[in-house]
Amino acid sequence: MKKSIIVSAIAAAAIASPAVSTAEATNFNYKVDRFADIEVLRYQVPEFSALSVSQKTLVYYLTEAALYGRDILTDQNGKHNLAIRTTLEEIYKNYKGNKESAEYKGFLTYLKQVWFANGIHHHYSTDKFQPAFSPEFFVKEVKALPSGVLPLAKGQSVDDFLKVITPVIFDAEVMPKRVNQEAGQDLILTSACNYYDGGITQAEVEAFYANMKNADSDPAHPMSYGLNSRLVKRDGKVVEEVYKVGGRYSEAIIKIVDCLKKALPFAENDLQKSHIAKLIEYYETGNLRTFDEYSILWVEDVVSGVDFINGFIESYGDPLGYKGAWESIVNFKNQAASHRTELISNNAQWFEDNSPVDARFKKAQVKGVSAKVITAAILAGDAYPATPIGINLPNANWIRAAHGSKSVTIENITEAYDKAAQGNGFNAEFVIDKETSDLMDKYLFITDNLHTDLHECLGHGSGKLLPGVADDALKEHGSTLEETRADLFALYYLADSKLISLGLLDNPDAYKAEYYKYILNGLMTQLMRIEYGKNIEEAHMRNRQLIAAWCYEKGKVDNVIQLSKINGKTYIKINDYEKLRNLFGELLCEIQRIKSEGDYEAGKKLVEEYAVKVDPALHREVLDRYASLDIAPYKGFVNPIYTPVKDEAGNIIDVTVDYSESYIDQMLRYSKCYSPLTNR
Ligand code: ZN
Repeated sequence: MKKSIIVSAIAAAAIASPAVSTAEATNFNYKVDRFADIEVLRYQVPEFSALSVSQKTLVYYLTEAALYGRDILTDQNGKHNLAIRTTLEEIYKNYKGNKESAEYKGFLTYLKQVWFANGIHHHYSTDKFQPAFSPEFFVKEVKALPSGVLPLAKGQSVDDFLKVITPVIFDAEVMPKRVNQEAGQDLILTSACNYYDGGITQAEVEAFYANMKNADSDPAHPMSYGLNSRLVKRDGKVVEEVYKVGGRYSEAIIKIVDCLKKALPFAENDLQKSHIAKLIEYYETGNLRTFDEYSILWVEDVVSGVDFINGFIESYGDPLGYKGAWESIVNFKNQAASHRTELISNNAQWFEDNSPVDARFKKAQVKGVSAKVITAAILAGDAYPATPIGINLPNANWIRAAHGSKSVTIENITEAYDKAAQGNGFNAEFVIDKETSDLMDKYLFITDNLHTDLHECLGHGSGKLLPGVADDALKEHGSTLEETRADLFALYYLADSKLISLGLLDNPDAYKAEYYKYILNGLMTQLMRIEYGKNIEEAHMRNRQLIAAWCYEKGKVDNVIQLSKINGKTYIKINDYEKLRNLFGELLCEIQRIKSEGDYEAGKKLVEEYAVKVDPALHREVLDRYASLDIAPYKGFVNPIYTPVKDEAGNIIDVTVDYSESYIDQMLRYSKCYSPLTNR
């Protein structure tokens, strides 16, 4: 599993707190759509107009490059996804029946879910959606479609097409899970993701990449084996289909490369020009060494105002963690807010030296922690519509060790979450008393952002492995434990007087807002995202429960965290915040030891004991209390529309931003205009 990554947006999404923000109050409408367990929001792109024309043009072409990758991710998520999406869209466009019928409403919800998840499995739980409309409705509507609009394979009849697709949508036993993590099963054969095909087994995949690793001519700088390919068995042979121009997803990648080439002349400096050019070379060759070279150039570019990621990045969608899901985020620096992360990263060595972990596991020199606050201009692929609020890249450990990493907090996204959640009733329902609630109103926005900054800028970059310990020593628990480590680092320091002396917080009690929210979320409220009767699987959710449940257990002797029943409802009470901080420090020591020594058994034990299982009574209670609030457990975003304004000679002289597009319109427009894999 990769080391670093994306902080899930969930933490911010679940909490209501009036923004403590300097932004002016506006009439901006953050809410776009609501269906199933999803709320779709929109975000503002403040200060876009303050960019130079050249920067705006650069952003414009990079957003175009971002949008052309959407189909790649959809196909990576499941091999029938594009065909299903196209079919559903055609039904939507051609439907002549009663739009008030339960069948149609169920159909529309399903279509919106498929758009949101970039496929037929839930974006977060990875469970297959259960449609609230009938197979009969589906078959009837498919047969009523005009000829030529269905994505039939060559020579395939409509009946044959339906025979393949209908069970994939409706039969709960067929492809039930996109990413299966259940120990004891063949994780490849039981996962519906499309990174592997042809009946290839987990053992064959592992052997294939073990061989590749052994044959690596430069083992000190290991490539991210398998990151940009699909692995299939054909005629008994294991073959990699590389994602590149001329390879798999060629039509989409050609478009992406074309847009990157248009962006190139508008690069802000030679360094940026060189990493854009390197990225193009990587897409053209599919060579993972070139990707490493690109990553190094990219991470060294800390001067450009406009920045972006575009490629096969995070590996959560692969049960074995080899394959990168395609994603893109285009952004530019938020100068004012970046002061905060610069202060943190300028003091990185102090934080490393003063952390409670064993000196043997500390970095003598913390290298190149560059951190900034950014404004997202477009979200795409695996970052759309659900999106992270912080990113720390690149993922390759040896690059991070030698060249550092870039860490960002996406503040126009956290701001949108925060604004949209105002007045949703969450605090009144779940927070134990007015004093705590007031503290959260006042300090949660800033401490949440600081938590993200500390997690991304320092947490992932801190500590070191002992010599001889492999990156992937913690195996399937690697992601959970890595997120646990980064979160604990952030939590521990949030209460440190260093933040006051740096001027990042002005009240020594402010940290309590985040502590309360973290424990409440980890012990209780995040359960709203789990279906009743199921365990916790996702790495970030496991990490949060691990921390909260461990501290609850270990703090019992001092009654640090108390679960109180008031009028039949469970509330969290934190009796001793200082002792809670000590517990965070203690657990951080142990997790760092596990990571540094590669102590798989100890890591596994912690995860299994604290992170996975759910108390059914408490789970039921949380679900019921949430249901009474009607807060969507998951949120995501539509993008703005960027339109270039050209002079008579065709030069771009400005780029305008429009926020008015609806969720359905945006999805249909993307499918029409940015679908090189389906519109052939
Ligand atoms: Zn993280």
